[in-house]
Formats: sequence, C-alpha cells, structure tokens
Amino acid sequence: MAHVISDECVKCGACKETCPVEAISEGDAKYVVDANLCVDCGACEGACPTGAIKGE
Ligand code: SF4
Repeated sequence: MAHVISDECVKCGACKETCPVEAISEGDAKYVVDANLCVDCGACEGACPTGAIKGE
C-alpha cells in the first residue's frame, strides 16, 4: 500500500525532497504520491507540517 496525502496538504512542498524514489509530485489541489512508485518507507510523513501524509 502506498502512502497518501490528504486534503490537509497546504502545498508547501516540504515532502517532495524527502522521497528517495521521487514518488511525490505537485498536483492541482495538493501534492500527490504516485502509488506505483511509493515503496512505503515513511520518510515523507515526518516532513509534513500539517500531518497530511499517512500510510494506509
Ligand atoms: Fe516516497 Fe517513502 Fe513517502 Fe512513499 S513513503 S511517498 S517512497 S517518501
């Protein structure tokens, strides 16, 4: 299961740099995780200031 970024995302972009497989990209309303690339390492979770990133 891939990590998911919820609507709590404020588009600060802090998570993008933390992903070792570059699965995070900027979407229209929020940043999104490409489920096909995400390896569920959890590195991005702590980087989010609003706690918007969660594992499933
Ligand atoms: Fe990238 Fe790891 Fe976050 Fe998945 S859990 S989006 S691989 S940093």
